[in-house]
Amino acid sequence: MIQRTAARIEAQDPDNPMPTWQSLLARSVTSPGVLLRRLGLDSAQREHDARVGHDAFEVRVPEPWLARIRPGDPDDPLLRQVLPLAEEGKDYPGFVRDPLQETDATPTPGLIRKYRSRALLMVTGQCAINCRYCFRRHFPYPDHRLSPQQREQVITTLTESPEINEVILSGGDPLAVNDRLLSAWARALATVPSLTRLRIHSRLPIVIPQRVDDSLLAWIRESPLQVVMVVHVNHPREIDNDVRKAMKALRDAGVTLLNQSVVLKGVNDDPDTLADLSEQLFSSGVLPYYLHAFDPVAGAHHFDVSDQRARQLVRALQARLPGYLVPRLVREIPDRPGKTLLDIGMEQ
Ligand SMILES: *Cc1c(COP(=O)(O)O)cnc(C)c1O
Ligand code: SF4
Repeated sequence: MIQRTAARIEAQDPDNPMPTWQSLLARSVTSPGVLLRRLGLDSAQREHDARVGHDAFEVRVPEPWLARIRPGDPDDPLLRQVLPLAEEGKDYPGFVRDPLQETDATPTPGLIRKYRSRALLMVTGQCAINCRYCFRRHFPYPDHRLSPQQREQVITTLTESPEINEVILSGGDPLAVNDRLLSAWARALATVPSLTRLRIHSRLPIVIPQRVDDSLLAWIRESPLQVVMVVHVNHPREIDNDVRKAMKALRDAGVTLLNQSVVLKGVNDDPDTLADLSEQLFSSGVLPYYLHAFDPVAGAHHFDVSDQRARQLVRALQARLPGYLVPRLVREIPDRPGKTLLDIGMEQ
């Protein structure tokens, strides 16, 4: 064992000892069998069960995430988010492929306008990790990068829409795109007079914290727009030292950091875990923003937490945390002008 580790260290390029985020992204585990073996959990039954889900929505787990999973624990909350279970193959009434009725009827390609002051810009369909509960699991979005002409069209639309003051880079995961392209977007968006903020919705700095490198920080620092990043953490053990360092680097570059989570059975559906998550986020410089009520997406029934239970959890958080560490419990309801806040009521 020791010899093997030593050999691996020697094999690294001495001039370039840190793996780049691109190489980490490319080397992700994409086979359920490999994932189970790496964690000492291989059995014919588990692999068979995982294959069923994998065939519909492929397994994708980058190494830095894999390193945070406890080996030998089939119930590990980080593993649960990425390992397909037999339940994915079963049908349940009310669990549909498109709970949010996201239609793609957008006049300007890539630009989604649902809310008055904010527009969503889809820069890629790719993600760094495949989360089993994701409502996008049934839309393996093509990697539709916009052409320079389409980018011009987006900028024209935004310039003609002075009510929009914030653009949200979304996906997929917008940080799966290289910094050359992202900085071109940032420069183009900075020419739109009405824009004051650039928001980035990304899980990459959590999944592969090496994504927060000098070239990302450089264009963020240079942007005249205020940059807000909404990361996605569901469980406190997702935050390790590398994630803390990445959050600190982003804050030092002037980024306001917020987090969104999804309430998930077997991952974070208890008050202790959620309270610990809020504390860990805050100590990393991130404020809890949204806790998304569960959406009944086909294949994710085993994550289902009822709205009643979700309300109870947030009430419990409110009783033990300062208000700024209590996330807003919300749901996206088609055709509403913003996210819908779920009323958590009073403690009886
Ligand atoms: C959630 C969401 C936003 C951002 O909403 P905020 O409440 O401002 O965080 C924007 N566009 C779409 C389509 C969304 O789903
Ligand atoms: S990173 Fe976000 S969009 Fe991508 S699979 Fe996970 S939850 Fe879905």
